[in-house]
Amino acid sequence: MPQFPLPPGSTLGILGGGQLGRMLALAAARLGFDVAVLERDADSPAGRVAAHCIVGAYADPAALAQLAALANVVTYEFENVPAEAVLTLQSLGVVVAPGPEALAVAQDRVAEKQFLNASGAPTVAFASAASAEQAVAVAAEMGPPVLMKTRREGYDGKGQRWVEHAPDAAAAFKALGGVPVILEAPADFVRELSIIAARGRDGATAIYPLAENHHEGGILRRSLAPATVSPALADQAERIAARILQGLDYVGVVGIELFEMRDGRLLVNEIAPRVHNTGHWTQDGCEVDQFEQHIRAVAGWPLGPTAAHHRVEMLNLLGDEADAWPRLAHEPETRLHLYGKRDAKPGRKMGHVNKLKPL
Ligand code: AMP
Repeated sequence: MPQFPLPPGSTLGILGGGQLGRMLALAAARLGFDVAVLERDADSPAGRVAAHCIVGAYADPAALAQLAALANVVTYEFENVPAEAVLTLQSLGVVVAPGPEALAVAQDRVAEKQFLNASGAPTVAFASAASAEQAVAVAAEMGPPVLMKTRREGYDGKGQRWVEHAPDAAAAFKALGGVPVILEAPADFVRELSIIAARGRDGATAIYPLAENHHEGGILRRSLAPATVSPALADQAERIAARILQGLDYVGVVGIELFEMRDGRLLVNEIAPRVHNTGHWTQDGCEVDQFEQHIRAVAGWPLGPTAAHHRVEMLNLLGDEADAWPRLAHEPETRLHLYGKRDAKPGRKMGHVNKLKPL
């Protein structure tokens, strides 16, 4: 078992080699850690900045054994890590953070909403369905419109369909692949907000100011942070974050997506047990950013301060938008973050910019 705080010079494992893994690896390196990335792609954004890259599937026992030989603390950059990968690592004496409870909750939208409501973090009304007939019955009972989402493996707005009339739920169920679904009441929100929060191994928490988020086609386009909110709303969000962190006995950074409702209540849309795209603004807007904070938490270090020193407009660079880097590099108020991805497919997150403004 590892000794905490993990000393510099230790190796940290990261499951997943995308941009979040890359930015985690860079933050870890700054604190003196080596990083071992486990990733299927031999040429990944994170693998190219890590000390070690193990190429393999996340559930491949040989790859996991290789990772365990290098690192006895492992984290991840995406929530669909197979549960058996975590069990395998734990059986090899590896501490995985955030823990399996957080993963189980984040992997199933029904378990997630049940956990949230039980923890005093409100959500929209919801019900589950496992067949087309049940989906029609549930949609009729809830009263359309309802939003049908796959219980598992949806991201960036993929795997969801609005159902305007109950009988249409059968076709929507089939279109989503005939897999178990959740049906959600529509959230009549005025804004989408998010809060990034962290909990250390000692149970201490650190919470960032709220971000206001704008999506296009289900993909995050821009975040404005700190969002302009009343102290009461900020307080409500912080209480929700604290309940989630405590309820999961959480270690690491969590991203919590919120709906600000017309009546001033905040509802939780979903939680991501990892660093989050709506927290990228912290890199250039806060004292300690979400990536370093996550590394500090999983390594058993004290958490760092989260206060904002700039207002930030974070813009994702999708597809060929990253080709504008020569112009962006000229702008004195713009901080450019590029992920080193080889192919700029449409809609693919290639990088982001943080545009700094005075607080
Ligand atoms: P999700 O994949 O759950 O993050 O949803 C993607 C986007 O769909 C959210 O950012 C919202 O804009 C929208 N959305 C999700 N759930 C609801 C809901 N229950 N009511 C209205 N809009 C929703």
